Amino acid sequence: MEITCQQAEGMVSRYIDRNLSLNELESFLEHIEKCTACREELETNFIVYKAIQQLSEDDDSEMDFRLLLSEDLRNARNHIRKIYLNRFLLIGGAVGGIFLLFILVIFLILR
Ligand SMILES: [Zn+2]
Repeated sequence: MEITCQQAEGMVSRYIDRNLSLNELESFLEHIEKCTACREELETNFIVYKAIQQLSEDDDSEMDFRLLLSEDLRNARNHIRKIYLNRFLLIGGAVGGIFLLFILVIFLILR
């Protein structure tokens, strides 16, 4: 699903809070990859969020926010992939089960 910049901007904070649905997350990542303006918007928000988090955790180590963000985006993509893989395996398993049942029924009928 293609989304507009306005929609993507509206998703930035929810992305950071991990509050996007799977479909939204997918569209959002797709948009971020193509749109520099929205990626920058995400970057800025992400950095602010992490900086505040770091302050409240009283952690003054150097953080590479860009690296953190690209890791975060990679995790999000892996998350999507995992969900699709699970769905695929689930459907594959169900189809396989039905097929076996079918063979069994035929076997019983022809016996
Ligand atoms: Zn955009």
